[in-house]
Amino acid sequence: MHAMRLNAPHTPLQWTELPDPEPGPGQIRVKVGACGVCRTDLHVVDADLPFPGHSLTPGHEIVGRIDAIGPNVTDLHIGQRVGIPWLGHTCGHCHYCETGHENLCDHPLFTGYTRDGGYATMAVADAHFTFPLPEGIDDVATAPLLCAGLIGWRSLVIAGKEAQSVGLYGFGAAAHIIAQVALWQGRKIYAFTRPGDTRTQDFARSLGATWAGGSDELPPEQLDASIIFAPVGALVPAALKSVHKAGRVVCAGIHMSEIPAFSYDLLWEERQLVSVANLTRQDGVDFLELVPRVGIRTKTTAYPLREANRALDDLRHGRFEGAAVLVP
Ligand SMILES: [Zn+2]
Ligand SMILES: [Zn+2]
Repeated sequence: MHAMRLNAPHTPLQWTELPDPEPGPGQIRVKVGACGVCRTDLHVVDADLPFPGHSLTPGHEIVGRIDAIGPNVTDLHIGQRVGIPWLGHTCGHCHYCETGHENLCDHPLFTGYTRDGGYATMAVADAHFTFPLPEGIDDVATAPLLCAGLIGWRSLVIAGKEAQSVGLYGFGAAAHIIAQVALWQGRKIYAFTRPGDTRTQDFARSLGATWAGGSDELPPEQLDASIIFAPVGALVPAALKSVHKAGRVVCAGIHMSEIPAFSYDLLWEERQLVSVANLTRQDGVDFLELVPRVGIRTKTTAYPLREANRALDDLRHGRFEGAAVLVP
């Protein structure tokens, strides 16, 4: 097999030949059809997340077909199409696993970080942490659903059912997917982009956003909730200003630059500031069930696997709308 490997932080990924991985007990192996490029992959390369200390294959939005099955896998079969997300394994017996919060497991493995991921021609995963996918869907179009979609979904749920007007800070892969869900649910969307990024603002309006503007602007009315997808701590006080009394601000990213000091007035009046971490398997089941009902369309830019470094660089500089996807 081949993979784009990260051998040390802050270095380009290297095209590498490796022995085919063998699935262990409870595991499956897939032939990768497509793998999405997530901002978390940049945080891994940049060591914003602690570098695990060994070379690794990034990528946690994997769509593939099972081509080998390890012992003790009974509910999946060779040739089946599956999705492999960020949450690769949990211990099953810590306080968080036992109370329905497996996203916070004390001893997890994360795909494309602490376990090899999908910037590769093959990947191995725990059968119980993969999602069966229907036939007749496009691999590239589906890949971004497995993190951008899932984390976006968890963030929208945490923003609250009662939030009718929702601000989205950073209108990239996650926001463009979850905006479609929110609109389908009858909510209003307000899109905040980098100041002056009229192209992305037009994109947001084309999907049905009520309003789109720069993150340095205030929305035309105060919002019920805002979700911050961009990894920019300065957006926290900005988003707190966007919501009315008792409004909620959800930080959806795994890493953010430092949050600047802000006046308590911004949090006062029962505004809430919360974060979202990882996903549970139930999030995946709930969200993937919604995808066909909502008719979600992802906007993607496909890159050959060998050009993963270019895809990451384009993501870093906001050079495309929607999501980048690698194709082996
Ligand atoms: Zn656990
Ligand atoms: Zn991700």
